[in-house]
Amino acid sequence: MPLPPRTLALFISDLHLQPSHPATSAAFFAFLKDRAMAAESLYLLGDLFEYWAGDDDLETLHPQLVARAIRAVSDAGVKVYWIGGNRDFLVNTGFAEAAGLTLLAEPHVADIGGHRIALVHGDAQCTDDVKYLQFRAQVRTPQWQQQFLSMPLSRRKEIIAGLREGSREAQSGKTYEIMDVTPQAIDELFASTGADVIIHGHTHRPAVHQYGARKRYVLPDWDLDAEVPRGGWIAIDSDGAIVRHNLDGQVI
Ligand code: MN
Repeated sequence: MPLPPRTLALFISDLHLQPSHPATSAAFFAFLKDRAMAAESLYLLGDLFEYWAGDDDLETLHPQLVARAIRAVSDAGVKVYWIGGNRDFLVNTGFAEAAGLTLLAEPHVADIGGHRIALVHGDAQCTDDVKYLQFRAQVRTPQWQQQFLSMPLSRRKEIIAGLREGSREAQSGKTYEIMDVTPQAIDELFASTGADVIIHGHTHRPAVHQYGARKRYVLPDWDLDAEVPRGGWIAIDSDGAIVRHNLDGQVI
């Protein structure tokens, strides 16, 4: 009997972890223990947190528990990588150290299982949302971040709550995750990276899209506290297979 293929890499995104969704956090902790421990590497591709006000929020229990749980995985020898999302782009070296993970700039290109893979969160590819892209460009400047992070943590949390409220109102109850990536942005990402596979999240539209010989995998968001629980991950096995898994680990 040949050995079953090993898991080279796992990819997840959009868990939107927050204390008010305890079942989602519990599922994430179980995923880390049961799945990530057996993989060579784990890629967190953005919006792991519902929001991130700054690394000094690690004083708070919930973010601390999340960092500690990821730390247990990296301490076990699994390489853990992070790409920030539109909600947790402020994660920085303080969190990276606490969680034992490596921060990546996007797009990140990784060679895994014979594939050349471009990794992004996905928000920057939603190029029809001009207003959001302007906001994104602004909040990613060192000046903006310095100024924001110089405010007291409680004030930053208030501002973030206001932004989330505003984005809900502006889009009649929908968050900006409702926007989708554009074909142009995807073409450009394939061209600029030379990748044959793109993996991203953000849009909450789990799927696999084929472009000739190339493929784009979209990760699901997680919500175990919803009436119909959802979530899942993508694995790349040592035989080169790229496999989508549902919450129960079943192949879909
Ligand atoms: Mn997102």
